[in-house]
Amino acid sequence: MMTSNKMMCLASKWDGHTHTELCPHGSGDKTATMIEKAIDLGFTDYSLTEHAPLPKTFLSSYAGDREGYETASLTWEQVEAYLALAQDLQRAYKKQIHIHIGFELDYLAGFESDRQDFLKRFASHIEDLIVSVHFLPDEKGQFWCLDYSIEECQKGFASYLAMPNRLIAAYYQAVYEAVQMKGSFPKSCRLGHLDLIKKYQDYWQWPRLGAMNPLESKEAHSLIGKILDKAKERQWGLDLNMAGLYKPYCNDSYPSAYILQEARKRGVPLVYGSDAHSLGNVGHAYYMYERI
Ligand SMILES: [Zn+2]
Ligand SMILES: [Zn+2]
Repeated sequence: MMTSNKMMCLASKWDGHTHTELCPHGSGDKTATMIEKAIDLGFTDYSLTEHAPLPKTFLSSYAGDREGYETASLTWEQVEAYLALAQDLQRAYKKQIHIHIGFELDYLAGFESDRQDFLKRFASHIEDLIVSVHFLPDEKGQFWCLDYSIEECQKGFASYLAMPNRLIAAYYQAVYEAVQMKGSFPKSCRLGHLDLIKKYQDYWQWPRLGAMNPLESKEAHSLIGKILDKAKERQWGLDLNMAGLYKPYCNDSYPSAYILQEARKRGVPLVYGSDAHSLGNVGHAYYMYERI
């Protein structure tokens, strides 16, 4: 059933979160082939949201696996090639599908001015934007990737993981900072996979139901409320990201039911996101979005 805060009109079918052949942790599948599959599936709108390059000075604050850093995003040198690819595809398929050119931009505490510079520099090209938190500082202020691997999380967030409530609060605090970031944001903007911190929830054996679920603590709910209030104020939406459903230790959409319900209460728009990094991911679980 369609609800009032679904974005766009009934006739549209939008994948608001996809990656391209240039993504260094992607499959390398041709973006054109992915778009053709989306057209076959009846999508009318398709956002290209490739990972924006990380700040040039970020490496000195990063303590995680070097490969995690190197494969996280486009390099600065690739941005022009990405935009050219996106524009070519936009032109080539314009009669069949509306391609929105954008990025998935990492929020990184302490690197706000770099993020603002990026948005300003490419403002004329950015039609759509996803703001995500993939990196979190540990208690000493060194960053680790929170969705690269279980080993990386265990290494970087060992003390936090002993008390998952603290890890989750630190993550939502970062998302709260992200939604408050100032800068040249496009009109169409969403928070990416809002509860990505649960990617390995079944590995950590966080209880799904009941008061012991650290994702549903009072503190987590209070931060989620603040994030959604701010999103509403800024007219940002949420990426209703289906990638988590297919992750072996997540087995849920991002975000989960509680957040969707709170977003709906506030009228925060939800936009389907396959987060496709391969041809196989295109259109994944769209039926779930239709049911919500
Ligand atoms: Zn990615
Ligand atoms: Zn992401």
